[in-house]
Amino acid sequence: MRFDILTLFPEYVDRILSESIIGRARKSGAIEVNAYNIRDYSEDKNRRVDDTPYGGGMGMLMAAPPVTAAVEDVKAKAPDKSSRVIYMSPKGRILTQEYAASLAEKYDRLIILCGHYEGIDQRALDLCVDEEISVGDYVLTGGELPACILVDSVARTVDGVLSAPECYQSESIAGGLLEYPQYTRPFEFRGMTVPEVLISGNHAKIDEWRLEQAEKLTLERRPDLYNRFYPDGKPEKKKKGGRKQ
Ligand code: SAM
Repeated sequence: MRFDILTLFPEYVDRILSESIIGRARKSGAIEVNAYNIRDYSEDKNRRVDDTPYGGGMGMLMAAPPVTAAVEDVKAKAPDKSSRVIYMSPKGRILTQEYAASLAEKYDRLIILCGHYEGIDQRALDLCVDEEISVGDYVLTGGELPACILVDSVARTVDGVLSAPECYQSESIAGGLLEYPQYTRPFEFRGMTVPEVLISGNHAKIDEWRLEQAEKLTLERRPDLYNRFYPDGKPEKKKKGGRKQ
């Protein structure tokens, strides 16, 4: 899967997306990430890309000509791939695990546009953008972190990025419930020990304990998820190990 990010800060997104699992996935070729500087498409002698908004108001707006030229040029670089142009925006649909996975299933390539300052001239969005995605109900200074979040969440569902699909399918949210608590060595830390069941070697009991813990945590913290997982209330005895996949 290919990700093309258009931003005023290409080094910033490139740096974040060069580390750890995503960095390794880029090196192995499981995903491709390119970052482009929108400033390179400015026709202004000082490479300016922003201006004051018509009608007045606070701040500066990214102008339509460089943004449109950037998207059109980048789009033309791999015309054979099924692509989607996404503007990271607090006005967009909220990103969920399910939606991230569906983007990876439907498209070979995401072209991700990052705004800055007060955002982008509406005409560039109308001309170039297929959809807007938000990473949550708060406003950030730029679309760079949201773009990295989108790339990370989509890339994790792409074959070859994680060691196995179960890695993301059984985690919080994707599995339907929040994940149960996890422990590693040492067995005792500052007087706190690991729940005995986890060293029992009885995998049926361990699965049962994990499901109970996941249910308890989800009911406490995210009753909305719990009710979606058990729309008709919790069944008498749910199958062991049993998260919905
Ligand atoms: N004036 C805009 C508004 O009220 O909707 C907010 C602009 S924000 C300060 C600058 C840029 O950050 C946006 O163009 C967008 O790309 C990005 N951004 C900020 N919050 C975001 C969020 N929650 N999700 C995705 N992108 C966001």
